[in-house]
Amino acid sequence: MSTSHPAGRKGSRHARNAGPDRSPEHARTCVGCGVRAERPKGSFELVRFALLPGAASSADSSSTAPLVPYVDLAGSSFGRGAWVHPTRRCLEDAARRGFARSARGEVAASAERLALELSEAAEQRAHALVGVAVRSRKAAVGTTAVEEADSRLTLVAVDAAAQREVDVVKEMASGKALAFGTKRSLGDACGRDVVGVVAITDASLATAVRDAVALSLAAAAIRGL
Ligand SMILES: [Zn+2]
Repeated sequence: MSTSHPAGRKGSRHARNAGPDRSPEHARTCVGCGVRAERPKGSFELVRFALLPGAASSADSSSTAPLVPYVDLAGSSFGRGAWVHPTRRCLEDAARRGFARSARGEVAASAERLALELSEAAEQRAHALVGVAVRSRKAAVGTTAVEEADSRLTLVAVDAAAQREVDVVKEMASGKALAFGTKRSLGDACGRDVVGVVAITDASLATAVRDAVALSLAAAAIRGL
């Protein structure tokens, strides 16, 4: 389907320039389409996967066992890394050949599994960031507190009654509020039983949560196709 990808060559040229053991962290070129990200920091315009020996390969520890890509949203340094746009096409191209070209070896991957892992990791990250915001008093938890807070981003659980409130619907339409998580999952993140609404009051935390939620939605949409 994507045999005429124009940027494929760029990717291989780039892979050749990388050292044998060093992944091209600084370059941040998508191994799917070969396009370099202009502003890669912060947002998940590109997502990092660490290429590591798979769990199954530890039994047969031959050096030829294929590597497996693990999503690494923190962008930390473990393993050889490869960057990919979180789109269906780039995940497919990365799974088909981009990862293998970058690793110069066999990589076992499917776009389906990459998208699943990506949506789970992004959802987990968003919840973890909410926890950080609550613990550092940069969040207001619950309807009353949220109404009084100077919210940079409000999260409304998908099963919260507040989903139907006019103000909340308006805020969601304007992007000030996002539907995310469940009362139970937001409750866990906030250290409570159940939480229907939580407002992040810190600008940079709000941006980080927004990016993680957006990535989880994008990855879920890829899986839905
Ligand atoms: Zn790409």
